[in-house]
Amino acid sequence: MVDRPDTGTRLDPWVDAYATRARGMTASEIRALFSVASRPEVVSLAGGMPFVQALPLEALAETAARLVRDRGAQVLQYGSGQGDATLRGQILDVMSEVGISAHPDDVVVTTGSQMALDLVTRIFCDPGDVVFVEAPSYVGALGVFRAYECDIVHVAMDDEGLVPEALAEAIAQARAQGKKPKMVYTIPSFQNPGGVTQGPERRLRVLEVAKREGLLLLEDDPYGLLGFDGPPPRAIRADDDEQVIYLGSFSKTIASGLRVGWAVAPHGVREKLVLAAESAVLCPSNYAQLTVSEYLATQPWREQVKVFRELYRERRDALLDSLEQLMPDGTTWTHPAGGFYSWVTLPEGLDAKAMLPRAIAALVAYVPGTGFYVDGQGHESLRLSYCYPEPERIREGVRRLAGVIEGELDIAATFGTGRVLRNAEGPEGPAPNIL
Ligand code: PMP
Repeated sequence: MVDRPDTGTRLDPWVDAYATRARGMTASEIRALFSVASRPEVVSLAGGMPFVQALPLEALAETAARLVRDRGAQVLQYGSGQGDATLRGQILDVMSEVGISAHPDDVVVTTGSQMALDLVTRIFCDPGDVVFVEAPSYVGALGVFRAYECDIVHVAMDDEGLVPEALAEAIAQARAQGKKPKMVYTIPSFQNPGGVTQGPERRLRVLEVAKREGLLLLEDDPYGLLGFDGPPPRAIRADDDEQVIYLGSFSKTIASGLRVGWAVAPHGVREKLVLAAESAVLCPSNYAQLTVSEYLATQPWREQVKVFRELYRERRDALLDSLEQLMPDGTTWTHPAGGFYSWVTLPEGLDAKAMLPRAIAALVAYVPGTGFYVDGQGHESLRLSYCYPEPERIREGVRRLAGVIEGELDIAATFGTGRVLRNAEGPEGPAPNIL
């Protein structure tokens, strides 16, 4: 045994050795609460987990078994860094739903779209480069941008998502400060966490700003096919194949556990993405890719997406109806037309993060708004997900949450809201089960 100096109370002896970029990787203090929130008696409106139980599990089991039995030598082998060619062709068919036409060569298959986010940031962003994101934005993307030491700037949204004028102003301001704007990151359809959707006109104006300013537009679209009214919104990428990198995913339309997503990028970018992907993982899993490919080829996948849409619509309705019936005056929320989330704003003076322990004690969980910002905004907001619990559980969760908010209002009426202790601002890493 090697004698080691007594390190006292320092739990991690490597604390001084980490690269600068690792400083942005910090665990959220709400992680511990979420381990409590996963207990069955708690109604969790926190997690963004798709309801995979609704899949034809027998058919998938049969597909997976058949693949190993009949094509084991291929399925269990390394594959191409860019992804399986047949699957890339099928992805074109999926993307035609949102108006995109591309060539299979333009598609890079990734280990979930999360990996595509990482690869794009890796090849484009130097430390200090400015990435413009919606206010609020997807926790997992903020984590990536932080890990690559980007300067993250939130841009206002309204009922139609990202506001183009606010974007133009933020870009001008960054330039005036001598910073280097690089990329605009947007989730135009059924945004996580805001639950809002950019209309066709809005999309074109956002694209126009990015184009005029010479910035890459990173369009993240995992929920695009999960709209409740009418056909899926047309992707921004459908109108521009030079300015836009489009990210898609099978996580919400098939299964998140398969970890299959993709990026569609301009030709030169695509080559860099493949090289970056090879250095990260050599190649995406052949087993997962071919399972998706077989599923798309042999199952009525469009029908299954419809099943998901109906299921999530029913849950969205349960959420909105019960919010309408039960929430105290002064509480507002967004009305998602698809996807998984509604963004709730509390009555003035209340703090969603300070309230969370009391909500968990009342057996309901949500994600406080602060997690979706890097600059300390969001105290008055929270995200509710309706994707996973059954409608009755959603109603019960909202009933409990309304009780907690009423309790906070009573306390505020007695003691004032000045008593609310705000936690020190700072980056919060995501808990994996709340993404
Ligand atoms: N982007 C957004 C907006 C998301 O909500 C998620 C997952 N919740 C992802 C990307 C990552 O999805 P995946 O890696 O499973 O494809």
